[in-house]
Amino acid sequence: MPLKTPEEYLESIKREINLYMFGEKISRFWEHPYYKIIEPSINTVKKIYALAQKPEYKHLMTAKSHLTGETINRFTHIHQSIDDLLLKVEMQRLIGQKTACCFQRCVGFDAANSLYSVTWEMDKKNNSAYHDRFKNYWIEVQKNDFFIAGSMTDSKGDRGKRPIDQTDPDAYLHIVDENNKGIFVTGAKVHQTGFLNSHQAIVMPTLALRKGEEDYAVSFGIDTTAKGIIMIYGRQTSDTRKLEDELFEVGNFKYGGQEIFVIFDNVFVPNEKIFMKGEIEFTGALVNRFAGYHRQSYACKTGVGDVLIGAAALSAQYNGVERASHIRDKLVEMIHLNETLWSCAVACSAKGFKREAGNYEMDMLLANVAKQNVTRFPYEIGRLAEDLAGGIICTMPSQKDIESSEIGPLIQKYLSTCEEVSVNDRFKLIRFIENLSMGVASLSYKTESLHGAGSPQAQRIMISRQAGIEDKIRLVKDILDISS
Ligand code: SF4
Ligand code: FE
Repeated sequence: MPLKTPEEYLESIKREINLYMFGEKISRFWEHPYYKIIEPSINTVKKIYALAQKPEYKHLMTAKSHLTGETINRFTHIHQSIDDLLLKVEMQRLIGQKTACCFQRCVGFDAANSLYSVTWEMDKKNNSAYHDRFKNYWIEVQKNDFFIAGSMTDSKGDRGKRPIDQTDPDAYLHIVDENNKGIFVTGAKVHQTGFLNSHQAIVMPTLALRKGEEDYAVSFGIDTTAKGIIMIYGRQTSDTRKLEDELFEVGNFKYGGQEIFVIFDNVFVPNEKIFMKGEIEFTGALVNRFAGYHRQSYACKTGVGDVLIGAAALSAQYNGVERASHIRDKLVEMIHLNETLWSCAVACSAKGFKREAGNYEMDMLLANVAKQNVTRFPYEIGRLAEDLAGGIICTMPSQKDIESSEIGPLIQKYLSTCEEVSVNDRFKLIRFIENLSMGVASLSYKTESLHGAGSPQAQRIMISRQAGIEDKIRLVKDILDISS
């Protein structure tokens, strides 16, 4: 059965890479002191592999491959039914609940499901052979239980100009050369979730392209260790707390996310891994489908929301105010917002449909509405969590002070709340809420909710395109007998 254990996954990503961190070049990252910063994001992906081994989560975490008939990790599955779309979001909520952060593996999953139908449609129109090529590639991914990153966002240069009008042609990744074995590409892909600890990445264009922009209409699979790939680790709030010995300062000290700035410097892509090359007329479909699938994926934030609601409720208990009516009302508001996000994730999955290629896709309008809500509600849920936790989340002394033989006992005395509550547990909880509401995990819970899978305006454009305003005008005209 092609399911990697967490340990096998960890061993399989220990490959020399071209990584920069704090200005230092690092290739064997797992042996470097900065590994303490990287490790939580690897722990998170290990958790996906671990959950897939557990019988109680088998129905969510695994699926039967329609390509090989084997049991595979759901993150490598091509959706075969509405049920698969629903199981996808349930799985994402579960992993959010277990890790309280971004678990990184959804991007390549969503890219694969988009390419599956787009390559089929390209072949139908142009008699090309991309679909079988993609299927062969994806069978290897399923067999090896690879973690596939997904690379879409280019550095974009001057946002007011098209790719071909940029002063620097590399502002958008493009083909710079080719031979009979493949192509060479140059450019950068930014905000690359989990790129460092993935095995391979699927690269896609970042926008719908026009005539003359064929060199930018390129999609392919690439090993993340390929020659010419340069990774720069994204700096995040309080990240160096992970280098300290005082583990609890980190908040979520087990799990975390990771964002990489990736440069492609004349990277070679062999023909068998190219899934689009010059087909500008299909770039819009690929970009929109990927965005739709990935907006559905933001069900992940409901799982993180569950943990944050639990943390806020626990902090109320620790403060002895859990029965106060305004506290209960704030918890209800947090739950209401989180379940509204969940309702949208379920709705866009339940209203999915079958593509001609045979795979299933979410409802585009509802996926965009879902993600639009995700750009807002986690901020309010986070605000309410901060409200319930109290001002101590930004004034708490350090772990070193609490453990100090000199000042520690006095801090313990004045941080005590209810008799049965240990000050150390209260400290851990407050640091955890700090982490999610304003620390490193808030980048994932809030800012990634804002900008991930496209910033809010991108969803508003899709909502206006999908809404059918003319049909709504027709409705009122019919009722009022207006014929023109
Ligand atoms: Fe998956 Fe959510 Fe992270 Fe995107 S933000 S990769 S959907 S866990
Ligand atoms: Fe993301």
